[in-house]
Amino acid sequence: MTSKTFSQGVYLPHYKKFSEDKSITVISLPEEVVIPLHQHTGAPCHAVVKVGDTVKTGQKIGESAAFVSAFIHASANGTVKAIEPRPYFNGLLVESVVISVNPEQEEPRWNEKDVTELSRDEIKAAIKEAGIVGMGGAAFPTHVKLSPPKPIDAIIINGCECEPFLTCDHRMMVEMTDSLVEGAKLIARAVEAPHIIFGVEANKPDAIQAIGAKIAGDSNIEIAVLDVKYPQGSEKQLIKAAMNLEVPPGKLPFDVGVIVNNVATAIAVYEACRYQKPLYERVLTFSGDGAAKPGNVKVRIGTPISHVIDQCGGLPSQVGKVVLGGPMTGWAQSRLDVPVVKGTSGILIFTSSMVDDYGHMDCVRCGKCVEHCPMYLYPNYIGVYAETRRYPMAVEWGAMDCFECGICVYVCPSNRPIVQFVRDTKKHVAARSSK
Ligand code: SF4
Ligand code: SF4
Repeated sequence: MTSKTFSQGVYLPHYKKFSEDKSITVISLPEEVVIPLHQHTGAPCHAVVKVGDTVKTGQKIGESAAFVSAFIHASANGTVKAIEPRPYFNGLLVESVVISVNPEQEEPRWNEKDVTELSRDEIKAAIKEAGIVGMGGAAFPTHVKLSPPKPIDAIIINGCECEPFLTCDHRMMVEMTDSLVEGAKLIARAVEAPHIIFGVEANKPDAIQAIGAKIAGDSNIEIAVLDVKYPQGSEKQLIKAAMNLEVPPGKLPFDVGVIVNNVATAIAVYEACRYQKPLYERVLTFSGDGAAKPGNVKVRIGTPISHVIDQCGGLPSQVGKVVLGGPMTGWAQSRLDVPVVKGTSGILIFTSSMVDDYGHMDCVRCGKCVEHCPMYLYPNYIGVYAETRRYPMAVEWGAMDCFECGICVYVCPSNRPIVQFVRDTKKHVAARSSK
């Protein structure tokens, strides 16, 4: 089978074998869930419950009048114990609703609805009400993404899962194929797109086969089999590989008539339209060379990562790093009481043997970062300028076009933390523009 790809990027070791064949299992509820009111791109929500209130699974507990935001829902039956700032995976404190979970939980009941006649506005309203965001990590509100200012020719369902270790999208493609394909059709209907493309990397033949069997005979749906290369799942690289279309710097996919949605997002869209089920749980990968019981697990939003780790066999004696998300774009954690949120695709446990722990050195001008950057940037210059706080120069060299894929850091022999330099630059620009 010939697979398509984009230029630049890197071929990484996959490390998928830890969990790619493990069926999805369910993590039990913790005693307490901590649900941040801001776990998406856009405006934070405010609580619509108060301390002492009784809440039910799926009940709305946070909302915002802003268009770019996403409602927040309770992930368990229980009582609101506190509404206060709590630690978040990025190291900040975020206002959160803390719910004491009832020991006795009843299964939520959903109203099944025929989705075949839903109009585009009804689909978008269901998505908004369910608080759905991009679940590949970006957490951009889906109802906003599905309101583009231009006509859309195609939607791409992103099943690449190009980061090492992560396998939850793979398992969902295999185990939840019906919901996935129906969700993709609803997304296409919401933007009146005539074509649907499933972009899947060639290392997931069972997923390709499952989707292929489901879409057989549908002439407007196809599968693009893609090279196993990082960052194949990044939107611009995916569009280039699957459709041979370039999204120019500073532009978005809708500018070329395309919208990309992640596999988990499409499934959530189906569940929201079919059952009016809000986004209060997600599937994530538990893996890493230090993971006692690697697998793919369904977890309620707000569950502390310590609870997931305990349920999956605990920590090894030599912990090098705990990372939320993939190893290339994820966030290393300094504490384990942070909660799983809508964008958490993985919890990775690494032993010290897998973690480099040395500081960075000066740039030796080897050019490797330039050679591999998928955005054709000069990460070396961005790094040097940002490190010396000459942020306008870092911007001039393209810092704002960097999507923080981490390749430059991966290939750099001087271990330069270029992504961190880029984030510093973006923070500086944001602070200046808010003045
Ligand atoms: S500069 Fe940005 S986009 Fe380019 S390789 Fe580095 S992190 Fe990726
Ligand atoms: S890879 Fe590292 S050392 Fe080489 S040019 Fe880029 S920043 Fe400099």
